[in-house]
Amino acid sequence: MNFLEERIARDGIVKPGNVLKVDSFLNHQMDIALLNEIGREFHRRFADRPVTKVLTIEASGIAIAYPVANAFGVPLVFAKKSKSINIEGEMYVAEVESFTHKNKNQVIVSKKFLGPEDHVLIIDDFLANGCALQGLISIAESAGATIEGLGIAVEKGFQIGGKVIRNLGYRLESLAIVDAMDPETGEITFRPQN
Ligand code: 5GP
Repeated sequence: MNFLEERIARDGIVKPGNVLKVDSFLNHQMDIALLNEIGREFHRRFADRPVTKVLTIEASGIAIAYPVANAFGVPLVFAKKSKSINIEGEMYVAEVESFTHKNKNQVIVSKKFLGPEDHVLIIDDFLANGCALQGLISIAESAGATIEGLGIAVEKGFQIGGKVIRNLGYRLESLAIVDAMDPETGEITFRPQN
């Protein structure tokens, strides 16, 4: 097991409805040493890519994306969830359905902060059905930016998102892939990775 799998096995809590709670170290209380290690690991995996910006989505993506942007020495841009509708023009807009809250949000990024000259690494905490990543991909594409890859802390491999994103031809790296989890026993099974 790698460092993140070990931590999930120790402190992750399996909830009904295919939700894995990691709020003691990633989503609510944050273990900064662990986040820094995540940043270094994504930097190592994407070291061959000419990344100029890290792109994520608020709120929980920011904590993961921050140490990644720090390791690359590039700015971090996060998509904001917005209720306003009269924003097209200055903003790239995508619609994202929230896995955890089951509602739809428009997410926006200012055109000032992303453009055709950018080489983007997209980062998020979880990958479930892939809506958040598809929204971020759509924003990067609207900007004319090059997507260098996508990095996820925890992919739930029994949900469809990973397959969809890989089938689109993107390089997707997940630090931990959960293939099964049981809310009754709390048991979590990881996909072997090298
Ligand atoms: P997707 O858009 O891929 O369906 O879901 C990804 C988003 O939903 C992530 O940004 C994450 O915030 C949230 N999410 C999905 N599954 C889980 C989960 O099992 N646990 C937690 N804490 N968040 C999740």
